[in-house]
Amino acid sequence: MNFIPYGKQWIDEDDIKAVVEVLQSDYLTTGPKIAEFESSLKKVTGAKNALAISNGTAALHCAINILDLKEGDEVITSPITFAASANSSLYYGVKPIFADIDMNTYNINPEQVEKKITELTKAIVAVDFTGQPCDYDSLRKIADKHNLVLIADAAHSLGATYKGKRVGEIADITTMSFHPVKLITSGEGGAILTNNDNFHKKAELFRSHGITRNKELMIDKEAGDWYYEMISLGYNYRLTDIQCALGISQLNKLKKFLARRREIAKKYDEAFSKLDYVITPKQLDGTNSAWHLYILKFKLKELGKTRREIFDFLKSKNVGVNVHYIPVYKLPYYQKLGYKDFQCPNAEEYYETAITIPLFPKMTDEEVAYVIEQVKKVDEV
Ligand SMILES: *Cc1c(COP(=O)(O)O)cnc(C)c1O
Repeated sequence: MNFIPYGKQWIDEDDIKAVVEVLQSDYLTTGPKIAEFESSLKKVTGAKNALAISNGTAALHCAINILDLKEGDEVITSPITFAASANSSLYYGVKPIFADIDMNTYNINPEQVEKKITELTKAIVAVDFTGQPCDYDSLRKIADKHNLVLIADAAHSLGATYKGKRVGEIADITTMSFHPVKLITSGEGGAILTNNDNFHKKAELFRSHGITRNKELMIDKEAGDWYYEMISLGYNYRLTDIQCALGISQLNKLKKFLARRREIAKKYDEAFSKLDYVITPKQLDGTNSAWHLYILKFKLKELGKTRREIFDFLKSKNVGVNVHYIPVYKLPYYQKLGYKDFQCPNAEEYYETAITIPLFPKMTDEEVAYVIEQVKKVDEV
């Protein structure tokens, strides 16, 4: 069997055609495809506003920027996430505080969030890890009670639902990533979704140098057409029309992609729930995951093996295993920042035994069967 990666994009002729059309048009960037992609994102997620931005990390940077936080403020997030979820706070001297995960869903545990709240806490960055939405009813209650902004890092969960609501219309701000391993891709890409018009306006400025030509926002309302004002400090975080055209074309196929991801996850659940040495991922009532990742926890004591041995065995069989994620505060940069004694026991226990196995919509039935077969051999080697 050829190498099967843990995740991969699915690009068809129609995607290629959409990109080529832009290359032959007048606008490679800041043209009509931006607004078209943004309105597709609004339609798919139910969010009132959508802003396309250069990547998921820029989207998180933007989400923290528009809150106008002060140095020393605190933002609570999950330790089991990609570093960017916490790094976005560091850009502003804001302190990321990690609240431990729930051992069933591996998502941030609302009770642990509440325990970490102080006078300095200003926001929660909830991460829909693996594609499963967080416990948003509980998080919303906590956010409202303590006057916090609820941000969803939905890099894994485009197309997922929580109690009938779509990811994008639940949190105050939702960020997306369109990196090739994610649910849809635009090469690199990201988005900020919000129902809050004021947040959206700030995000729009942030994406493009803080510069505006909108007379309503400008101090000099009588100036000529050449005139613009820079009214805040922003970046160049624009997404190109080339990328947006790919994003639009991919978004048209999201339903198909999700259906296939869910079908594969179901096959995995059926096969692995019969094995006594693995723990399959649990789903919270009322959530419908986007299944970005499928993660198995291995009962290492029962198996008499290390995680390293299992990982290396599967890798040697061309199964593209991975580990998501090293608890963020364990990363050397965070250790240096002063997180040395920091502990989230569940996150650490989770990390010690977790292995991500391949799951992507273009995976064939044959590849799925092969992965299952190899995992079933783990206790024999
Ligand atoms: C991928 C990812 C990001 C960053 O997205 P990029 O588009 O790669 O910058 C942020 N958070 C999580 C949870 C991710 O998986």
